[in-house]
Amino acid sequence: MTSLYIHIPFCKKKCLYCDFLSFSDTEYINEYFDALIREINAFDCKKVRSIFIGGGTPSYVDCGYIGKVMEALSRYDIDENTEITIEANPGTLTLDKSKAYRSYGINRISIGLQAWQNELLKKLGRIHTREAFIENYENVVKAGFKNTNIDLMFSLPDQTYEMWLETLENVTALCPTHISAYSLIVEENTPFRNMELALPDEETDRKMYHDAISFLNSMGYKQYEISNFAKEGFHSVHNCVYWQRGDYKGFGLGAASLIDNCRMKNTENIHDYIKGKTVIENDILTKADCMAEYMFLGMRMTKGVSISEFYNKFGEDMTVKYKSTFEKFRDFIEIDGDIVRLNEKGIDISNMIFCEFV
Ligand code: SF4
Repeated sequence: MTSLYIHIPFCKKKCLYCDFLSFSDTEYINEYFDALIREINAFDCKKVRSIFIGGGTPSYVDCGYIGKVMEALSRYDIDENTEITIEANPGTLTLDKSKAYRSYGINRISIGLQAWQNELLKKLGRIHTREAFIENYENVVKAGFKNTNIDLMFSLPDQTYEMWLETLENVTALCPTHISAYSLIVEENTPFRNMELALPDEETDRKMYHDAISFLNSMGYKQYEISNFAKEGFHSVHNCVYWQRGDYKGFGLGAASLIDNCRMKNTENIHDYIKGKTVIENDILTKADCMAEYMFLGMRMTKGVSISEFYNKFGEDMTVKYKSTFEKFRDFIEIDGDIVRLNEKGIDISNMIFCEFV
């Protein structure tokens, strides 16, 4: 089975912290969607496990474009239980659009709120207010979406611990099925990099994270990945495919794919993409690459990785292969029968541990 990712790179305005492949220039929007549909039509796959329409802001473009993408995708084997997600941002989502998405068969919506306080949203360069988010959220519920994610961020400039708790309390009161919570990273090549930002210190950042886990757990959202929390049965099927190294095909500008242990990457140049010069990188992964990926992607998940599954896939004993890493980080990694996972302290230094597998 293959999962499909469709990249829509358009946003109304670029947020100040954003380093995703997205832009506000819609000059080539028609040509872009024509090229995207050509790319979809040229690909053959067996059964589809999940679909994710992401960006950018897919809800920014006219919903007719999304309808055309869904029509093109209907040539694949998709059934009514296939998870089909669209990303949306408040300020770009109407009741009509939400209903149109449902009519195309989209059954999950992921909304980027980030913070509850309007003053923080403004500092992030977001286009919307909390009030716009609430209205949009009510629209998606009215349109019949029963599977909803809300994206949040913490460790924001001028954000206090109390503001973060207020965000969590208000968001859980809306009863989405899924919440993601990421600590802000100030990336290179973003306006934030050159701004004086009053960021919470490391201790506050960790307190925000650990207390979010406890609070969300108390509200019925179980942590299943470093930054992702879900009600029972509502984990993101699509994201789990990434963490478990399932096959996926990415369509659109800059989209990445993993098929039969071959990683592919599409061009990030919209002019080339429109002309059909789509794939620019094609790497056949070595066994060592695959084993490393299995470890550092799988260990993002709270259920950890399985020693026996590793052996069945690669014919090697994980505990021998990574003996020195497990010893070096013995206070951060838990080995429990067949399962290897990060403990609470390990999650805090996960990037350092993941680097050891590469
Ligand atoms: S809405 Fe998302 S993709 Fe678009 S600019 Fe903001 S963070 Fe980037």
